[in-house]
Amino acid sequence: MFLKRVEMQGFKSFADKVVINFEHAITGVVGPNGCGKSNITDAIRWVLGEQSVKSLRGTTMTDVIFAGSADRKMVNMAEVTLVFDNTNRSLNSELDEIEVTRRLYRNGQEAEYLINRNNVRLKDVIDLILDSGLGKDSLSMISQGNISSFAEAKPIDRRGIFEEAAGVSKYKKRKMESLSKLERTKENIERTQDILMELERQVSPLKRAAKKAELYREKKTRLEEIEIAVLVEDINTINQQIEDAKKTLFNIDAQSTMFQTTIQVHETQNLEAKKEISDLEKEINKLQEELMKIVNEIQILETRKIEFDEKRKYAIEVGTNEEKAKQLQSLVQEAELEYNDRKGRYDQCQINIQLLSEQLSQVALQLAELSQKTNEENGLLRRYQNRKELLESLLKDPFNSQAGVKAIYDNKNSLHGVLGVIAQIIQPQVGYEEAISVALGGTMYNIVTTDEEAARNAINFLKKNQSGRATFLPLTVLQPRYLSRENQIVCENSKGYLGVASDFIICEDRFIPIKEAFLQNVIIADNLENGNALAALLRYAYKIVTLDGDVIHKGGSMTGGKSKNSASLLTVKKEYEEIVQLIDSQVAACALAEKGLADTQRKREELERGLMEHRISSAQLEPVVDAKRSKYEKLKNDYELIRPNDEENHDANFADEVIIHLNEAYSRRDEITNSIRSKREYRIKVSQDVERKEQQIRQIRRDLDTANASQNAIKIDQARLETKLENNLQRLATEYQLTYEFAQTKVSDSHIENAKEEVLQLRSEIERLGNINMNAPQEFEEVNERYEFLDRQVKDLIDSRDKILSAIDEMDHVMKKQFKEMFDAINNELNDTFRALFGGGKARLILEDPSDILNTGIDVDVQPPGKSVQNIRLFSGGEKSLIAICVLFSILKVRPVPLCIFDEVEAALDQGNVERVARYLTNFSNDTQFIVVTHRPGTMQQCEVLYGVTMQKQGVSQMLRVELKDAIDLADSQEEKKS
Ligand code: ATP
Repeated sequence: MFLKRVEMQGFKSFADKVVINFEHAITGVVGPNGCGKSNITDAIRWVLGEQSVKSLRGTTMTDVIFAGSADRKMVNMAEVTLVFDNTNRSLNSELDEIEVTRRLYRNGQEAEYLINRNNVRLKDVIDLILDSGLGKDSLSMISQGNISSFAEAKPIDRRGIFEEAAGVSKYKKRKMESLSKLERTKENIERTQDILMELERQVSPLKRAAKKAELYREKKTRLEEIEIAVLVEDINTINQQIEDAKKTLFNIDAQSTMFQTTIQVHETQNLEAKKEISDLEKEINKLQEELMKIVNEIQILETRKIEFDEKRKYAIEVGTNEEKAKQLQSLVQEAELEYNDRKGRYDQCQINIQLLSEQLSQVALQLAELSQKTNEENGLLRRYQNRKELLESLLKDPFNSQAGVKAIYDNKNSLHGVLGVIAQIIQPQVGYEEAISVALGGTMYNIVTTDEEAARNAINFLKKNQSGRATFLPLTVLQPRYLSRENQIVCENSKGYLGVASDFIICEDRFIPIKEAFLQNVIIADNLENGNALAALLRYAYKIVTLDGDVIHKGGSMTGGKSKNSASLLTVKKEYEEIVQLIDSQVAACALAEKGLADTQRKREELERGLMEHRISSAQLEPVVDAKRSKYEKLKNDYELIRPNDEENHDANFADEVIIHLNEAYSRRDEITNSIRSKREYRIKVSQDVERKEQQIRQIRRDLDTANASQNAIKIDQARLETKLENNLQRLATEYQLTYEFAQTKVSDSHIENAKEEVLQLRSEIERLGNINMNAPQEFEEVNERYEFLDRQVKDLIDSRDKILSAIDEMDHVMKKQFKEMFDAINNELNDTFRALFGGGKARLILEDPSDILNTGIDVDVQPPGKSVQNIRLFSGGEKSLIAICVLFSILKVRPVPLCIFDEVEAALDQGNVERVARYLTNFSNDTQFIVVTHRPGTMQQCEVLYGVTMQKQGVSQMLRVELKDAIDLADSQEEKKS
């Protein structure tokens, strides 16, 4: 048997557990009205998933739970189990036996379904029975109501049973699901499309705004790049120009100084030269006066000599030999005198020349020495000046070697809370520069900030610009450090202790924490020896520095010594002042050396002049000496010819004296003349020098004026360039937070071409863009993402709509085909069935609208024997029932079902028809298990087994197997009650 067993408990009137075993093909259920027969079919339908409270004849689902009776309390749970034999796989499962259970609790609304005692969902139960022919609209449960409503129904309402038979119900159900899914999909499409449209309205303007913002950002970035490039380029150019200006200024300065020095030197030299000229003129005048005197003297002496000569001439001509010889002797003596005089003078000249030459050589040596000395002094001065320049640049640009510190220092105006570098904040007292410098060490370059936030900001600036590293000291975190009281007493009683480093510092009050934190525990000693002694006493617990800059570190290690040109920021100022003084004294030393050199040069000139004078004299005297010697030798020869034997020495006479005087006078005259000539020549030379120098001075003054003018112009230009430079640097720092050095690394050459024009162009383009919503790209991104997501969703939805539609089409096709085939098959069977049950005639099913198979109504035209063809509705109640039963049997023939429950189907038939129907039923018992609820003995006779339903206890149904006779009795008792 397909349905092997029904177990009920608490279901409607079946309060107690009732088990009905089905072992025969046709089982009859009999019993009086209201005993609970239909409750059995209700129970079966309920288990199979009936959800309609109305068709279960209640108002709420809990109405199926036994509600109690006069002597039975109500129960709280209804449970019904159907046990199926599934060996021929009528049910959608691989198991041979299947138990389906439904439970309902009074207090719980949710029903429980179980398949083989496992909890399942309603859907699982429906799936299980889907193709079995069971189910609420199936042919499995036919009641009298079904029969009469089939007969009375409108054609359209008759479709259900045919659809069920054709197996299109499940397609129809799926189609319904698909349609509702389609509906939902369409709604979703519409809703999504509405949102899409709304988004589309937002997307377009947002897209435009985003594009605009993007364009703005591009142009702004490009502008920034170019502006930075332009700024960097400008700064480069300005730096170069400033550098050039500095060089030019330096050159002009040097030139001016040189001009001034030259003017000064020339003027001094000219003053000296003019004095010399005046002295020379005085000397020349004096010499000229002397010369006049000498010339007069010579004239007088010459006159006298002429007189003698005349006398001698006369004596020689007319005198005796003796007389002659005497005169000649005088002449020889005179000639000798003259010759000796000239020769003597000539020799003296030679000696002088020799002497002066020697002196000149010495002076030349001296000059070389002095010139070297002057060079050395000047070299030293230059060295001092170079050092001064270096120190000046150190003072001006103190952090050149500390990139990070320099970057912060240069940009401190654009960085908040940066107060300065320690080396500049504190000032050592005079004499303590070295000591404080080593006491601080590297801390000197630490940068003081107001607080930690300012330090962080500055560090970020360094990072962003990759400008190096620096150490920062937030004032807020500094802690004072000091000597302990005992150690202070030890120090104060130690030799050479001068104090702690912080005692020798001058600084603003707000920076006192710095000296307290770094210098209050550093001891200053006068020298290393005392420092060592003190360090030992203090057990090397403190840093000790000496005035010389030596250090005894904590723990005792020592650092000291001195390197050339070392300058810390604190000592540089002191060294600068020292070097300025050194330069002053060196300038004096140079001047002294140069004066010595000039004096010696003058001396050399004097010697050269003297030498020249003597050389001239010597050259003049040389022929004179020769002439005098010839004259003397001729006269001597003449005299030898006539010389008497008793020659007596000619005494010096008056004439000789004249000659001697004359010689002297001539010698003196020559001397003076030479001297005058030499002095004149020298004066002319000096005058020419003066004249030349004055000309030079005039020229130099003009040059100096030009130099001063251009110096002023360059200085003005330089100031202008420096302001421009400052502005550009400021702009880089404030607008782009960039240092010039870092900006340089960001700039490539290609930016520069036509940059200025491009900047103007970009500016006007940015201006033209108008208001910009910088959030637009992000907003667009978000909205567009949503738009695209929804757009994809719409496409997916349309896709699935199309799939549903094509699935529906396919289902329609299958349904049409199956329905038509089934309809035709049933129609074929109907005539035979009709003829069998009516004893002749004919019957036919009619499609109301054959063109619309899926929706058409179904009518039945019949022609009972001896009657005309009529529509089913025109027959009597009993006839209608019989026609409906004919249709039912035709369907069962074509589409057998495993279980069929007839609930008083034959109620309206007369006895003969009841028997015919009951007999006809047996035709199907091979394929179908029948449970027949009936009152009619005709039907009962055809049942293989009969169950009686009774209510022995009021309100509680019971089941018992009965024999036909008892069953008829039960039915009769019913009939009796009725009557
Ligand atoms: P008829 O031959 O007149 O069709 P029947 O034998 O088919 O009668 P049913 O309709 O199956 O009788 O049973 C109706 C009986 O079941 C009534 O007496 C009714 O009081 C009882 N009944 C229905 N629901 C419940 C319930 N929840 N609790 C108790 N009894 C119930």
